[in-house]
Amino acid sequence: MMNPGSLRLLMALALLCVGAPGIAQQPRFKVLAFYSANLEPDHVQFAEDALKFFAARATSDNFRLDSTTNWEDMNDAYLKAYQVIIWLDDSPTRAEQRRAFERYMENGGAWLGFHASGYNDKDTNWPWFVDFLGSAVFHINSWPPLPAKLVIDDRTHPVATGIPDSYESPANEWYVWKPSPRLNKNVRILVTFDPSNYPIGLKDVLARGDLPVVWTNTKYKMVYMNMGHGDKIFTSPVQNTLIENAVEWLLSPPGQVKEF
Ligand code: ZN
Repeated sequence: MMNPGSLRLLMALALLCVGAPGIAQQPRFKVLAFYSANLEPDHVQFAEDALKFFAARATSDNFRLDSTTNWEDMNDAYLKAYQVIIWLDDSPTRAEQRRAFERYMENGGAWLGFHASGYNDKDTNWPWFVDFLGSAVFHINSWPPLPAKLVIDDRTHPVATGIPDSYESPANEWYVWKPSPRLNKNVRILVTFDPSNYPIGLKDVLARGDLPVVWTNTKYKMVYMNMGHGDKIFTSPVQNTLIENAVEWLLSPPGQVKEF
């Protein structure tokens, strides 16, 4: 028989465990964010803001967030511990790093890429990545960063859950892609720049045209978001929800999409 004192102690310990789920629970999943800190300051600023944003979500939503500026961590042994890889402001340049990322994605890994991480041009020399992005090649950009009205293209997609049909996205440098990823049959465009924003920019003015902002290539578990320039990106609660939705959707098994 346990004496009453021991029983009380045991119950107190059990209550402590219930009251401190962080101690008792394993993280639901692990996220690894890559970024570079030696770039255009506005891109580094975004990366630092994003790390704070995701760190807060990691605590509230019970996942583990790791981050690195060492792109040599883009290797099989390192990547396999993570369910989602995020690129905040850059992409790998070395062949071995690129091959490791290709293997990761082709074996069911998930990727969320922001802004400059999707930048590619004639000197990038990574055809696999262009295909992965839905054939999108950087064409031109707006300048300076300005807010813009965005519209949800695909109301049925889980990333749009809880997002109004349109919203004001905080100041960003907007990229135009040529060819547009909308022309790729594997791409599902999720969010588009509203034509009412045109003309946008002062130094570099965008006057017209189709401008997809968020999309997924359905051949992979991936989402690209053009947001990612400067210190305003996380000032919109609506857009923050969109970003959280993207992470949760990337983790959802096919047919078992989780919702917030
Ligand atoms: Zn930028």
